[in-house]
Amino acid sequence: MDLVTRCSACGEGELVPFADLGTIPVFCGVHWASRDEALASPLGRMELSYCPSCAYVRNVAFEPELLHYDTTMDTNLHHSPAFQSFSAELVKHLTERYPLRGATVLDIGCGQGEFLRELCHVAGARGIGYDAMYAGPVGPDPSGAEFHSGHAPLDGTTPPFDFVTSRHWFEHIDDPYDFLVTLRTLAGDRPVRGYLEVPDACYDMATAGWEVIYPHVSYFDAYSLRRIVERAGWRVEDTGPLFQGMFRFVEFSANVSGPPASTAPLPGADAVSRQLEAIRGFGARHFAERDKWRTLIADRIADGDHPVLWGAGSRGVQFLHLADPDGKLAAVVDVNSRKWGRFLPVTGHEVTAPSTLAGLGTRTVIITNPAYRDEIGATLRDLGVDAELLVA
Ligand SMILES: [Zn+2]
Repeated sequence: MDLVTRCSACGEGELVPFADLGTIPVFCGVHWASRDEALASPLGRMELSYCPSCAYVRNVAFEPELLHYDTTMDTNLHHSPAFQSFSAELVKHLTERYPLRGATVLDIGCGQGEFLRELCHVAGARGIGYDAMYAGPVGPDPSGAEFHSGHAPLDGTTPPFDFVTSRHWFEHIDDPYDFLVTLRTLAGDRPVRGYLEVPDACYDMATAGWEVIYPHVSYFDAYSLRRIVERAGWRVEDTGPLFQGMFRFVEFSANVSGPPASTAPLPGADAVSRQLEAIRGFGARHFAERDKWRTLIADRIADGDHPVLWGAGSRGVQFLHLADPDGKLAAVVDVNSRKWGRFLPVTGHEVTAPSTLAGLGTRTVIITNPAYRDEIGATLRDLGVDAELLVA
């Protein structure tokens, strides 16, 4: 296997190893029909390295051939009301800021199309969405968007676009620099703008790292995201954190004159040194968190409690693999009905509906995503479950 050692973001630094997380589930977004299939699902190596120049982080042991995306996978975040309202705000923001009426929007990694449909509807734009995980009807729909189940071709067959969006896909790409260069080439001399959204590596590297999952090859913080976009030939219009600091966005353009959309200073040397500090502490913090949660679960069970995990998304899968590999938790619940009765990769935990918590006698509900704390707390009260809500 050829390890990537040159920084993808700045193109200058040589990557330096800093945390070897061992093996982790490859298909953290797949919910298996049987426990046997789940238990047999593959593991891949996670060896994090960073760039001393720009603080970009990458899994240098990533093997693209281990991973493929298809319609059986569900990494959709739109089941949560908190994410839906965030997404609606984003549509409003982009519509107000950029000339989208009558424009063609190319959405790469469109998921099940919720965002593109809403953007086309609100902005009066035409949309083309691609995602290998897209499981809905293929072709045009009444919103003005058309959908393809498959990866965006990004070649001469890609229709001309005025705006390109890609949310929570860029970090999955083996060669993110090449991706941005290809888009820039496709833009040619037309005015084209774009919006990228990724998990924020400032958050990932400063916390336990439950979002350090196999499909995420790259970890971009404030500066490295700016750097890769600029190096690929785009102008940065605006960038910053979103969704309680867990996500990061960058808006960019080519062949657009006038001042940038935001006059806020772009991230620079300060952002790099802050991120390098977080990277230095990450390994110790990550392994301490694994131990802490294993101990907490064991202690609570010894006290007669029946602790559970709420949330069977990729963060939850990673948490279970690292903190509950032997399946000691009393249940794993999720609001997404497509996951109910299915089994999680490698550990084989079965996912059930939140309603199964009533009568289980649980006094501890663990969540891995602080953004959903209020939403889950309210549902627990509705279910009559009187439990302590802990954020891992
Ligand atoms: Zn770099």
